[in-house]
Amino acid sequence: MRAEIISIGTELLLGETVDTNSNYLAGQLPLLGIDLYWISQVGDNQLRLVEVLKRAWQRSELLLTTGGLGPTEDDLTRESIAEMFGEDMSVSLVLKQEIEEFFSQRGLEMPLSNLKQATLIPSASAIHNIRGTAPGWWVEKDSHILIAMPGPPREMQHMWELEVQPKLRQRFAGTVILSRTVKTFGLTEAAVDEMVTPLLSGTNPTLAIYAKADGIYLRLTTKAQSQIDAEETLARGEASVRSILGEYIWGTDHDTLEGVVGQLLVEKGLSLAVVESCTGGLLAATITDVPGSSIYFKGGIVAYSNEAKVACGVAPGLIANCGAISLEVARAMAQAARAYLKADIGVSTTGVAGPNGVENKAAGMLYIAVDDGHTSRVIQGNYPGNRPQIKRRATTAALFELKKLLTAVNDNRKT
Ligand code: ATP
Ligand code: MG
Repeated sequence: MRAEIISIGTELLLGETVDTNSNYLAGQLPLLGIDLYWISQVGDNQLRLVEVLKRAWQRSELLLTTGGLGPTEDDLTRESIAEMFGEDMSVSLVLKQEIEEFFSQRGLEMPLSNLKQATLIPSASAIHNIRGTAPGWWVEKDSHILIAMPGPPREMQHMWELEVQPKLRQRFAGTVILSRTVKTFGLTEAAVDEMVTPLLSGTNPTLAIYAKADGIYLRLTTKAQSQIDAEETLARGEASVRSILGEYIWGTDHDTLEGVVGQLLVEKGLSLAVVESCTGGLLAATITDVPGSSIYFKGGIVAYSNEAKVACGVAPGLIANCGAISLEVARAMAQAARAYLKADIGVSTTGVAGPNGVENKAAGMLYIAVDDGHTSRVIQGNYPGNRPQIKRRATTAALFELKKLLTAVNDNRKT
């Protein structure tokens, strides 16, 4: 079963509306074990719409369209489907009554233009739409299925969840496609690729590698007869990935680094404070994205100038001797965070956000320190990118160092 999504609407091609409908449906199909091969976008033009529909009908067994079911002149999905099949549209009295009721419940009379939403072709049956006036169309012909849904995302998603997905699930019972994403930090995409080479040729699960803002992701995907089989295969795949990339892995699927760090802090009953320079508050902002972070996060200071660094406890002589962007000052800032804000762990960032260098140091060069009173770790990074990207990378790197320190605390306690 090959599926194809067609998003209809000129506003998509003008860049005015982001095609979230196809994104949503693309995420839904694997749960039904249906392979998605193509996504197309086409404007409100009958000639081109029929062309796209015909091509999809030839190469795919399941077509999902969204948009163009409204009452206006430029809503042409029904007309185009009718043209493709060479069938005539006629008003369904049942649908007409339903749409009239939709309006009368709101104290309105149905505008004549809405009548076209009550039309069907002989091969189509209507899909109920309780959130709007446009019913969908479900067409079955020559072992193909075409499902036309409305464009407004809340109408489309509701129709999918209540009407379309359950019917498809019944039809395609017996296969599921599941994925798991393993998230790493600290390695380049090429390095990850090389390390997992033996796994890349596997077909069950398949493995794909992506570079993301917060590290390199590996996505394992499997197709199986049952949920349990699929989960077993994924667990096996994840174990193989972990055996190779263990120390670089910080989470899976919907995990965020700040969330993982927050959970570790809660588990260990430790508190956190930060003194940031080059990240300008982004580290504190990211930490506080996590609900409940007030339990462990004491606060942060944006010590951007040398005066501010001194004010929170860094020795002036240290800055004069080593430079504000140095291993020594980074360490002193992390220690200052602990002392000044009375926290168990201090984290600091100091570096060059760019685009110009500072103190003979190039843009993207930075130091990150974590200190828990027993262990003090400082790493030096060199990150590419523009200012916001470098700040984001530095924030991610700081959280990753913190995660490593917290995991080590765990290990120390065990031994
Ligand atoms: P309506 O009855 O509202 O006219 P419709 O089925 O004709 O519904 P469209 O006219 O194509 O749908 O789109 C209506 C609105 O829905 C668009 O203005 C846009 O805001 C949203 N929309 C349409 N297609 C998409 C899409 N693929 N992704 C996200 N939003 C969309
Ligand atoms: Mg419309």
